Amino acid sequence: MIFETHAHYDDEKFDGDRVELLSHLLRENNIGKIVNIGASFKGCKDSLELATTYDDVYAALGIHPENLEDMSDEALDWIRQNASNPKVVAIGEIGLDYYWVKDEEQRAKQRLWFNKQLDLAKELKLPVVIHSRDAAEDTFNTIVGYNTQDNKGIVHCYSYSKELALEYVKMGWYIGVGGVVTFKNGRKLVETVEAIPLSSIVLETDCPYMAPEPFRGQRNSSIYLKYIAEKIAQIKNVSVEEVEKVTYENALKIYSKVKG
Ligand SMILES: [Zn+2]
Repeated sequence: MIFETHAHYDDEKFDGDRVELLSHLLRENNIGKIVNIGASFKGCKDSLELATTYDDVYAALGIHPENLEDMSDEALDWIRQNASNPKVVAIGEIGLDYYWVKDEEQRAKQRLWFNKQLDLAKELKLPVVIHSRDAAEDTFNTIVGYNTQDNKGIVHCYSYSKELALEYVKMGWYIGVGGVVTFKNGRKLVETVEAIPLSSIVLETDCPYMAPEPFRGQRNSSIYLKYIAEKIAQIKNVSVEEVEKVTYENALKIYSKVKG
């Protein structure tokens, strides 16, 4: 069975078949557990609703750096209040995204809310799901300042160097590997997977985005995680079953509120 650590089934691209997927289709395709990740305020509410509707679905609550118009102390309070729900297993996705944002004031705003959400995760004793794009150094420095024995997380859709990945691994953090590892131009992520131990990898789609080959560009779903597991098995020279088993155990370790 496969553990899907990062999906967005609240997205409108699933309006036509969300119920079939979450009620039985994913399970029939070897997907055991799913964490639906909030990115906007509405996405958090929808994630919580999916998690309370379907046994195998859990939720992460957080506001993505590109959706900070949704962020306020009230929104943060809503997350705090709802995080005690047994199906809420993480704070995320939170982080820094400098790809589109060149303005220093906006970047400072991202850092402010990233830190506030990290503080909340610490207060709630929940792991975090990190989104980081074109912000390697600021993200890493923030995490180094945040990291303790009890405060860990997943660096989702990992896109930086293998050297930096090894630094995260050394701190006991997990690296989220998705469809990019199957892309022709995904060499950098392949090198990262080569360099880090399987015990630090979790599987993720980020669906509806990031479909692996041979479905690149189409709508993604957790059913395609097997292609990512196959690619990792090939890189690590182990069986696909081994990749599925170890990454499943890894996901249970970091998302410790999920019942095995
Ligand atoms: Zn995501």
